[in-house]
Amino acid sequence: MQFVPFERAIEVNGQTVYAVFDGFAAFKSIAADILTNEGIGELTANRGFKVDAQGWYPQDAWLRAFERIAKKLGDPVLFSIGKKIPENAIFPPWVTDIDSAIRSIDVAYHLNHRRNGKVMFDTESKEMTEGIGHYGYARTADKNEIVSVCENPYPCHFDRGILTTMALRFQPGAQVRHDDSKPCRNKGADSCTYVVQW
Ligand SMILES: [Zn+2]
Repeated sequence: MQFVPFERAIEVNGQTVYAVFDGFAAFKSIAADILTNEGIGELTANRGFKVDAQGWYPQDAWLRAFERIAKKLGDPVLFSIGKKIPENAIFPPWVTDIDSAIRSIDVAYHLNHRRNGKVMFDTESKEMTEGIGHYGYARTADKNEIVSVCENPYPCHFDRGILTTMALRFQPGAQVRHDDSKPCRNKGADSCTYVVQW
């Protein structure tokens, strides 16, 4: 279910918090009020907001804040925030095409979360810790198509935005469609399915 953590002891890093906050654009002061009310970051002069980019914050508080902000602003805003997330990201050198780009989302996702104080992707051993779900990657045989099942507590339209930017960055003209025939987190399910085509 979106906004509900899979388990306790998960933290999200300040960089992710700030990237999402930054995406709220015109609605930043609403977002800042709600985030600080949940104990994430602090208000600064002139209704600004500050979060420690190197810090870690409880995922349950973060998802609660995210849900409150999402309810106020609606799905189109969540989509545009999702789209902005990877825009300024630095990608590892193995990300060179649309396939590696879509696969890299799950790695970045785990790098930005900790479980019991341990970052959930080890860049040395490539080991991934379970506990926050995944951004799926499955290539359709003989077709320019990737199916991504996103089973994670982030919202449906936010993830469609992330996938859209990642697909377009390496494959101009690519399209990302939410598969409405599959379960949807907006309707209480645990996952959404997206089809990337080019
Ligand atoms: Zn959905």
